[in-house]
Amino acid sequence: MPDSNSSSLLIVGSVGIDDVKTPLGEVNGVLGGAASYASTAASFFTPVQMVAVVGDDFPREHIDFFRSRNIDLAGLQQVPGPTFRWSGFYDFDVNQAHSLDTQLGVFQDFRPELPDHYRDADFVLLANIDPTLQLQVLDQIRNPRLVMCDTMNFWIESKRDELIKVLGRVNVAVINDGEARQLCGTFSLVKAAQQIREMGPEFVIIKKGEHGAVMFGPGLHFSAPSYPLEEVRDPTGAGDSFAGGFMGYVAHTQDPSDNNLRRAVIYGSVMASFDVEDFSQNRMKSLTPQEVAARYRAFKQIAHFEAMEELSLLERLSGE
Ligand code: AMP
Repeated sequence: MPDSNSSSLLIVGSVGIDDVKTPLGEVNGVLGGAASYASTAASFFTPVQMVAVVGDDFPREHIDFFRSRNIDLAGLQQVPGPTFRWSGFYDFDVNQAHSLDTQLGVFQDFRPELPDHYRDADFVLLANIDPTLQLQVLDQIRNPRLVMCDTMNFWIESKRDELIKVLGRVNVAVINDGEARQLCGTFSLVKAAQQIREMGPEFVIIKKGEHGAVMFGPGLHFSAPSYPLEEVRDPTGAGDSFAGGFMGYVAHTQDPSDNNLRRAVIYGSVMASFDVEDFSQNRMKSLTPQEVAARYRAFKQIAHFEAMEELSLLERLSGE
């Protein structure tokens, strides 16, 4: 799908190795990381420039996979030391990841130094990683048109002040429902979205796992369903695939208007729905642009309804 008119999308975030257990299986030592999932999803729409670090133990096959997706790896450093590792599990509530262990490894001392050709990026995705690092990346970009950030409970708990600084500098924030409630100390997602918007971003997207996603903006409330899958094998990376699909589409169209952001929410939902069909990035390896297009059309069908002005009924309901 990417064509010569697409703008590059710069993505920073974790790249690592995961151990994951779900009710439908278990995998160990597989490709994981927020930037991995986001970059692969975005690469269906636009050229991607990745910023991350891996250790000398990072398998060559994953680098080859990123290359096969045409992801620019000039900003992916490989240094001595252990790669980022995460292990977690899901119970039957697939919306809730339970982290067992997070080893930052070489991310601990990572100081990103962007290659010069990355610094003119128009579109930037600060995928999940230490907010201090998200800020260091943002400081090096000259004049971005649209910046989106993601985060998770780990950083809300350990780097809250830095996270709030990031939120003050982005146009769109994406966060899952539980984390929005945790960040804002309220049960109401409407209030949480409002509070987050007051911290900086014009648009806030709250992901609700198998219940879809809601985007809040100036005078705007857009709700997208999730795709009705019979089986979710591994929810890991759904949020990152959503963010990658969303920003990949925006960069491809170079159009950050409200109407286009609504379409981007649907493309994000499409990519998330494919991601969860299999473990790690296995589904993405066989996914074709035709399948992406077909599922986008299916979403249109799922969300569409014919609003008939049944006047007599409306009058009766409003007591006129
Ligand atoms: P998601 O399921 O979209 O929330 O993201 C899953 C990915 O996030 C996994 O592949 C992990 O490697 C990665 N991850 C887990 N914890 C962290 C963390 N504290 N910072 C950055 N990435 C993380």
